[in-house]
Amino acid sequence: MNTTSLKEKILREVDNITQELFELAKKLKENPEIGFKEYQASEWITEILEKYSFEVEKNIGGLETAFKGTLKLGAGGPKVAFLCEYDALPEVGHGCGHNLIAAASLGAAISLSRIKGLNTEIIVFGCPGEENGGGKVILVEKGLFDGVDIAMMVHPSTENCVYSTSLALDAYEFEFKGRSSHAAGAPEKGINALDAVIHFFNGINSLRQYLREDVRIHGIISEGGKAPNVIPDRAVAKFYFRAKDREYLNEVTEKIFNVAKGAATMVGAKVEWRKFELSNDDLKPNKTLAETFERNLRFLGVSDIVSPKEGRGSTDMGNVSQVVPAIHPHLSIGDKSLIPHSREFAQATMSVNGKKFINLAAKTMALTALDVLTDEELFEKIKKEFMKDYD
Ligand SMILES: [Zn+2]
Repeated sequence: MNTTSLKEKILREVDNITQELFELAKKLKENPEIGFKEYQASEWITEILEKYSFEVEKNIGGLETAFKGTLKLGAGGPKVAFLCEYDALPEVGHGCGHNLIAAASLGAAISLSRIKGLNTEIIVFGCPGEENGGGKVILVEKGLFDGVDIAMMVHPSTENCVYSTSLALDAYEFEFKGRSSHAAGAPEKGINALDAVIHFFNGINSLRQYLREDVRIHGIISEGGKAPNVIPDRAVAKFYFRAKDREYLNEVTEKIFNVAKGAATMVGAKVEWRKFELSNDDLKPNKTLAETFERNLRFLGVSDIVSPKEGRGSTDMGNVSQVVPAIHPHLSIGDKSLIPHSREFAQATMSVNGKKFINLAAKTMALTALDVLTDEELFEKIKKEFMKDYD
């Protein structure tokens, strides 16, 4: 078969399973489970994988709700991974549309697996807890992406964008410890931990003027004492720190640790810090792979594609993109009035546009993988770009 008829076969295969995939997305939407507790979701997705002859391994990387589905079409060829996310948000359920991500990646993998004669291994990774800092961080650390040649997933959004970066992120909790005392009767005997936190916030705000403009620092005081007449002996602040690249973010966090020490010293308190969520690396999509995706998207009739973007959020797909050539494009399920992480967004995943998303994202990913598998030069170019970036 020539490439055109292979492409046509992929499109037919996706059309054939779109309703089944949409029903899965619906089941996920109606039964939202938060990060690392996606027991039903991982069960339902792996059932479908098994139905389509994928070999399923559960509990990978020590994560109960992570999984790997593998189907070998031939030995020695590039290994292609499609990533499923399926965690929901507290209160708003599938307000980030991860139910669609799972369905689309399944669709890409299943349709590609129907192309006999391809020399490849197709992998579907079940990646839990994206919203909690990320199962992918652990899967990457545990080496599950070793030997994978390309990785992709598509995120629902309010625009079509094939190439967008994201910020590296660290999540730290700072615990300041002082000494309690009667705030009016014996204030001189106390050490006010809350004051240290306030100095910490002010110190960070002063530091901002010396930081690069891509840095984002945002925090809350999660504990600040119990009563106004008791000097707080303990106060806690939680922060997210973000920057365009991991290297600079590490510099920034070092500076912030010094601010924390300084703030504690000012009142005679002590401070300790620890990460309260996993760190995300910056997302660096593979340009060649993104261009291939865009070509296929245009082939499927989509022309309203926005220019490459520097994103301000963070995702654990960043960590994947540091070890494997990867893409994380966005496809629209509604206009700009639709706010991500809202109930309305969750509802939109069940619209005609939600169903179209599954169909389009699955097709575009599968066609992109097919291009890589049938064009050696393209595959070499993707690898070369990746090696150049990470040497
Ligand atoms: Zn998301």
